[in-house]
Amino acid sequence: MSAAVFLDRDGTLIEEVGYLDRPERVELFPWTIDAIRSLNRAGIRVVVVTNQSGIARGYFTEATVEQIHCRVSELLAVGGASVDAYYYCPHHPDGSVAEYARVCDCRKPARGLIDRAVRELDVDPRRSVAVGDRWLDVALAREVGAKGILVRTGYGAVEEHRRPAGLTADSVVNNLVEAVSWILVNMPAI
Ligand SMILES: [Mg+2]
Ligand SMILES: [Zn+2]
Repeated sequence: MSAAVFLDRDGTLIEEVGYLDRPERVELFPWTIDAIRSLNRAGIRVVVVTNQSGIARGYFTEATVEQIHCRVSELLAVGGASVDAYYYCPHHPDGSVAEYARVCDCRKPARGLIDRAVRELDVDPRRSVAVGDRWLDVALAREVGAKGILVRTGYGAVEEHRRPAGLTADSVVNNLVEAVSWILVNMPAI
């Protein structure tokens, strides 16, 4: 079983722009390619896990989300970086699209997306780390026995001051490239 970084998408891997509904709106951070390439070179799986309730809300479709992920991969490939897999939750209990409007086991911080990665990619969550700009990303890490890192990009700078009681991150860092440095130093088993 291999180690993985479970990476939040919006505000962590790419700019947070609200409900991202078109591939043309994808913008990497200036450091994203270097950060992902470092993980690739270290042999760590890069697995994007993202809540996309815009699907349940009828703002965009699964096909759009898949196009957006193709666009992210295309931009990363320019710098020789790659994501191993993208997993998204299309659900929301208050959604307006019947087939997605429900409570599910894959909306973060629930662990369903990680369980899929474990099944399909043979990753070991206890040797892995989750990185995101929301406390729910850290809560997800706790849920599966991974390390959890909060980044200050996206909503992170605000989130940092709204820490839920009982939840702490293994590290709070400025951005993804700092998170990757922390991972490479602190997780030698990786
Ligand atoms: Mg986010
Ligand atoms: Zn779901």
